[in-house]
Amino acid sequence: MNIILLGPPGAGKGTQARHLVETRNMVQLSTGDMLREAKDSGTEMGNMVAGVMARGELVTDEIVIGLIREKLKGDNKGGFIFDGFPRTLEQADALERLMQDEGKTLDAVIEMRVDDEALVERITARSTCAGCGEVYNDKTKPVPADGKCTNCGKKTEFTRRADDNEESLKTRLMAYYKQTSPLIGYYYAKKMLNSVNGLGTVEAVQGEIAGVLGG
Ligand code: AMP
Repeated sequence: MNIILLGPPGAGKGTQARHLVETRNMVQLSTGDMLREAKDSGTEMGNMVAGVMARGELVTDEIVIGLIREKLKGDNKGGFIFDGFPRTLEQADALERLMQDEGKTLDAVIEMRVDDEALVERITARSTCAGCGEVYNDKTKPVPADGKCTNCGKKTEFTRRADDNEESLKTRLMAYYKQTSPLIGYYYAKKMLNSVNGLGTVEAVQGEIAGVLGG
């Protein structure tokens, strides 16, 4: 199955995507991760998008569609999980065309619903294992005192994203409501939309998503 995880920043898309990769052999396509990689390795495109990302604005459709186009040519094993893409109607149309060109279909869109207050709390408190991407929260799941990630077991660094600050978050949330949330109606009209409560525990959300994917 090829699916989209749709939701505002901090809804838990990355966490759920990683679980699907581990349990269903799916392939996570996170445009945010791809852009951060480009930025960290200092490519021309990475340097171009660095400021836009730091401010919390969206990078151009052309860039992210180009990134996804390349990835769709690769092996999709148990299916693709689109995480953080599409984020505009233009990107959604492009994805449909690209999938058609590859002879693939989009099977479900899963909207993860979380209220704004919870998002701000989650994001300003989050850090991530530099090794495996496991997400921690200062209040609800603090980083282990021994410095070893509870998921990968390695002694690691726990990093905070540069755009996980209140100022960028405001812009990111606004971008979500203005540019991305119209996709909820778009996929509803296409009879592809499934909504889950993103406020539950990680396990509860995993269960709801499994229900959508047919167990
Ligand atoms: P994320 O990791 O999904 O929260 O994305 C981090 C940042 O990367 C966003 O705030 C945007 O600046 C950029 N970005 C990621 N995915 C997209 C996309 N599909 N369209 C435009 N910008 C994106």
